[in-house]
Amino acid sequence: MHITDNENLRTPIVCVMGHVDHGKTTLLDRIRGSSVAAGEAGAITQHIGATEVMIDSIIERSGASGMKNNFIVPGLLFIDTPGHHAFTSLRSRGGALADLAVVIVDINEGFMPQTKESLQILKRFKTPFVVVANKIDRIHGWQPHESASFLETYNKQSERVRTDLDNKFYEIVGELYNSGFNSERYDRVSDFQRNIGIIPISAVTGEGIPDLLMVLLGLAQKFLESNLHYNASGPGEGTILEVKEEKGLGTTIDIILYDGTLKKGDTIVVGSLGEPIQTKVRALLKPNPMGEISAEEKFQNVESVTAAIGVKISAPNLDDALSGATVRAANPENIETIVKEVQEELDEVQISTGTTG
Ligand code: GDP
Repeated sequence: MHITDNENLRTPIVCVMGHVDHGKTTLLDRIRGSSVAAGEAGAITQHIGATEVMIDSIIERSGASGMKNNFIVPGLLFIDTPGHHAFTSLRSRGGALADLAVVIVDINEGFMPQTKESLQILKRFKTPFVVVANKIDRIHGWQPHESASFLETYNKQSERVRTDLDNKFYEIVGELYNSGFNSERYDRVSDFQRNIGIIPISAVTGEGIPDLLMVLLGLAQKFLESNLHYNASGPGEGTILEVKEEKGLGTTIDIILYDGTLKKGDTIVVGSLGEPIQTKVRALLKPNPMGEISAEEKFQNVESVTAAIGVKISAPNLDDALSGATVRAANPENIETIVKEVQEELDEVQISTGTTG
């Protein structure tokens, strides 16, 4: 079903970062909600702890259907937890779990301390990112056009409103320059390696969001190909988002699987505060699309899952599992090595994130 020539590229994982109240949560809600509201069947898939936006829907929404065959990733997987704390504590193989980031700035407020922190973190991890200048609907006199592309809505605004937006926009360009980044409005960027693309959006009206999704796809395509190769039939490997008590299941772990396939019955090694836990997958759970009907049927039980995906694992002895730690499938031949590696990775994350996270 996916428009992909290369079945071996997995979905890129995206994290939204930025200053408190600049709109991270609203943006993620909008990405989840607008597809559903638009009644596009199959536009998004709700995972445990993440939302996947399918490539077909991104292309359709942006009105660029002629470009369909140019894309080789299946879509974008947004981690539902925003913030740079999530970015730094969620790792994979010593790097960040997120392949791409969105830094959100309130266009009316400009840069704030957490905006600058986000940029420094992304620089350190060398993570490709885009900046969104949010809350354009708050510009005095703005005429909203629900879910429109930025250029479409921009061209329909009065000259005064456009000038106002441009002025605020160039303040952000200036701030980015002061932080060491050249940037430009996304539609004027010819080389995303040299310039950061900035996309004016409204997380409330959805304006600019089709453009954001398209630019993210473009970045994934250009810079991530080598990171996104994975072994679909290899052993599962993931990062714990959350350790959670579930009624009737006991302690479970919500993970993002970023490589391989995980199956029911697999032996897994799970990072914990003490020695890594060795246990067996009792159940793999995805959100039940009909989940609202009854609480007991909140989850759908599946036999196996393949990266990239957010999934809940039910297994014995998970009480001491640690969020941010690694989960890896193992067999009797390699389990000792894997236990050692999971432990080492955990030490590394704890040292480099320190107490500030
Ligand atoms: P977070 O702290 O970064 O997650 O920010 P939130 O998503 O909670 O947003 C903070 C406030 O700004 C909330 O009251 C949102 O409704 C509001 N907000 C977020 N995005 C927009 C936007 O694009 N336009 C307007 N008008 N308000 C927004």
